[in-house]
Amino acid sequence: MPIYQSSTFVQPSATEFQEYDYTRSGNPTRSALEKLVAGMEGAHAAFAFTSGMAALSCMTRLVKAGDEIICNADIYGGMYRLLTKVATRQGITVKFVQIWNLEEVKKAMTSKTKIVHIESPSNPLMMVTDIRALSKIVHERGALLTVDNTILTPLLMKPLELGADVVVHSATKFFGGHADVMSGFVCCKTEELSKQIYFHQNAEGTGLAPFDCWLVLRGIKTMAVRIERGMSNTVEVAKFLAAQPIVKKAVRYDLQMSQSKGAGVLLSFETGNVELSQRIVSALKIFKITVSFGGCSSVVEMPSVLSHASIPKDEQAGIPCKPPSRSR
Ligand SMILES: *Cc1c(COP(=O)(O)O)cnc(C)c1O
Repeated sequence: MPIYQSSTFVQPSATEFQEYDYTRSGNPTRSALEKLVAGMEGAHAAFAFTSGMAALSCMTRLVKAGDEIICNADIYGGMYRLLTKVATRQGITVKFVQIWNLEEVKKAMTSKTKIVHIESPSNPLMMVTDIRALSKIVHERGALLTVDNTILTPLLMKPLELGADVVVHSATKFFGGHADVMSGFVCCKTEELSKQIYFHQNAEGTGLAPFDCWLVLRGIKTMAVRIERGMSNTVEVAKFLAAQPIVKKAVRYDLQMSQSKGAGVLLSFETGNVELSQRIVSALKIFKITVSFGGCSSVVEMPSVLSHASIPKDEQAGIPCKPPSRSR
């Protein structure tokens, strides 16, 4: 697919218009990417944004002042900040619950709940939610289920097939795959949702630029092999960690395998001791300390200090932590 590095497109005449007129509203390179990703997720349509956060922000446009969003208690730090510091200023009520415990969701939902938003597995605690069962609960009460599928990608899990209405991605991670481009997707199950998301993508000018679309298109070509190799490497690291007496925590593997083709490339572990964790992270030689994941290098981080530092310590849902040294 060529890069249509053009903001404006010549029209045939004063009264006839062709498909593309202005890149904010549509660009052939972006369309090619969006069509490919819609196919991968089994969506009615997908939309490419300038980052995962821009995609998540657009998703919150599906609700209005007075409505309520219920979100996983364990969630990406940037999403926590968007919900608590941006959405609430627009008159949206936000509740955080341990959604992997479905009884908690039933208790928390009200007639005002319009979106229930999850990551599964969650970042960083790797809590797995039964998406099929959750979608029934959410739909019975007339709300939408939105799933951030960044960690597994459509190659391992397709939330729309499990009952979700909207899937969101930080394509900065596995789609791009080389830590050289930022982008995000919103993938919609229905035409009605697609229309709303497209309206906001155009109205707010958050669509992904042509060159970046091309980089993500190129990343996707090797995504399957990168994920396959990443997963087999992760299994070896997990086996090694499981044999270490300092490692304290395992994940609900059965549920994960009932709704996905694999457990993914990401792994988290707890030592029960913040200083010990810091020493381990600093001593690693192959694993570089970075805030992100999904590139071709092996990386490590402490969520409480990096990716989740924007969540106040006392609200970090069980993330073992020290007061963050800086805020992001
Ligand atoms: C990184 C990430 C985001 C944010 O995406 P950006 O591309 O950094 O804006 C959202 N959700 C999850 C699960 C992430 O890992």
